[in-house]
Amino acid sequence: MEANFVKALREFFRLWFPPVEPPGEEDVIAIHSHRMPIHYRRHARARNYVLRLHPDKTVLVTIPRHGTRKFAREFVASRKNWLEKQWRILEARRAPPQVLRPGMEILLGGRPVALELRRNGEDWELQCGPERAPVRDPDGNLRPALENHLRSAARIQLARRVRELAQAHPSEVKHVVVRNQKSRWGSCSRKGTLSLNWRLIQLPDSVRDYIIIHELMHLRELNHSPRFWQEVEKACPDYRAAEDWLKRNSGQVGF
Ligand SMILES: [Zn+2]
Repeated sequence: MEANFVKALREFFRLWFPPVEPPGEEDVIAIHSHRMPIHYRRHARARNYVLRLHPDKTVLVTIPRHGTRKFAREFVASRKNWLEKQWRILEARRAPPQVLRPGMEILLGGRPVALELRRNGEDWELQCGPERAPVRDPDGNLRPALENHLRSAARIQLARRVRELAQAHPSEVKHVVVRNQKSRWGSCSRKGTLSLNWRLIQLPDSVRDYIIIHELMHLRELNHSPRFWQEVEKACPDYRAAEDWLKRNSGQVGF
């Protein structure tokens, strides 16, 4: 009885957490001239070969039930460009944030604006489009002052814009939270909390509005069904242009 149970448990783990097979001598791929070993994992439930480059730069291929290592190797070779692109993304993520100095530009409201230092009596002030932030050390990195200021400006501006749009397109918003999210523009919860990325203030107004409307419509339809997109289109007829802008320009946002 107990032995059966242990066997079943082992089987369960093998199925859900299949072991990683170590690479053999031929299992190597050159990514930007780094020779990286290819690790494999056999997965009884996998339907396709799946390639991943993990944050620690491990190359891992999932092999479906009747798949072979030989095909997996070819599959990895055919995805070399993709791997090199992912590699560059990982490298960029690890780069320390750039030091900001006067004269540099950032995106604000969809337009590039220059960072300018001005005297304000005894003190220094950073001007960036319509925004002004006090600066303690004018010779140092302007980033902390700028980020601090833009985050609190975003908290006020975005909450106000959510209220306006929730009135125009009746929605049950209970709270608005403005956060420092790395990879999302916004999200919402069943309880009516809208979470927005403070960097929304960097986008053109129409794109910012689309993202807010998108989340508001999720309060009506918590999915991406055709019904959801109908609601989005009714509230924001130009939403495709906004999606397009995001696809082309998201990389410029942030600084
Ligand atoms: Zn959505």
